[in-house]
Amino acid sequence: MPEFAVPMENIKDYTLAALTEWMTGHGEKPFRARQVFGWLYPRGITGFQEMTNVSKALQAELAAHFHLGGLATASRRQSSDGSVKFAFRLADARQIETVLMPNNTHYTLCVSTQVGCAMGCDFCATARMGLERNLGTGEIVQQAVEAGRALEPGKRIRNIVFMGMGEPLHNYDNLVRALEILQEDNGFGLSARRLTVSTCGLAPAIRRFARDGIRANLAVSLNAVTDAVRTRLMPVNKRWNIAALLDACREVPAGNRYRITFEYVLMEGVTDGLADARQLVRLLHGLKCKVNLIPFNAYPGSPYRAPPPAHVRAFQQILLDRGVLATLRISKGQDIQAACGQLIRGQQAPPPEPMARTG
Ligand code: SF4
Repeated sequence: MPEFAVPMENIKDYTLAALTEWMTGHGEKPFRARQVFGWLYPRGITGFQEMTNVSKALQAELAAHFHLGGLATASRRQSSDGSVKFAFRLADARQIETVLMPNNTHYTLCVSTQVGCAMGCDFCATARMGLERNLGTGEIVQQAVEAGRALEPGKRIRNIVFMGMGEPLHNYDNLVRALEILQEDNGFGLSARRLTVSTCGLAPAIRRFARDGIRANLAVSLNAVTDAVRTRLMPVNKRWNIAALLDACREVPAGNRYRITFEYVLMEGVTDGLADARQLVRLLHGLKCKVNLIPFNAYPGSPYRAPPPAHVRAFQQILLDRGVLATLRISKGQDIQAACGQLIRGQQAPPPEPMARTG
């Protein structure tokens, strides 16, 4: 092996259990893993020598085996509404995007799980890239470390939504490990209710998510009430149609503290019929869920556009009148192409930018 060989593993690919095993395998006490986690998250050390309560010998051993998985910030753009879109460069020079969105007292972070996406949704910028590769566990959690560094003192990321580039359930194992690290007391210590995984509707993976008892909210991009329209918008519907998708959703335990949210993009003349609203109520009958209505993020020349606000409210009212909890989401960061559907490889996205991304 050449003398200059670089450390082979990203330490942030390791869950606490895995790092504990590594420690004991290297003659260290198990509690050392917790100590190290405390430095990795959310403090986000940039060198093992910063871990002042860890012996120099262990620091050196860790440095010989691991790297810290830092991401280079290729660009950072701030929206007029306070949202910040980061383009992060990965070790192989590929880029992903992460969006930090301010709420009153805290921040929500939208993270990517893949470089590109294989799902091909018609309204989504990321779909145009195709799938380049999955992100590793460490590359997923590092987005929160890097974004956390950008916050002013006293502010913190309180919610993380897996709604950036990629289909999270298509990268299941890395997603699940990332969720575990984010919830770990010695990691970010985020409550499971503050974590939301969004899927375009991979029915078998939804079943697996339910069966594995993964602690996180699930958001399912529905976006249409007929298979004809949904297949046009979301090719995944050819494989698992609306009935198959909702069957899988019904297997998510009803007693679960984590509610399913159905994301529904309102596109004028396509998905916004008032009859569609009534059909949506019928489809969701018996499911413990809420509906998040998202007026389409239009762009010049787009084949789709958002319905007028009064029509959006009428659609919402039909759901509310029939007992379906329905909220309205106004996307943040539209002026910097950070809104739903607008994420594509750094700043390289050619104008005009498309559309709502809800998967
Ligand atoms: S909406 Fe989500 S699942 Fe669909 S192509 Fe875009 S990133 Fe992939």
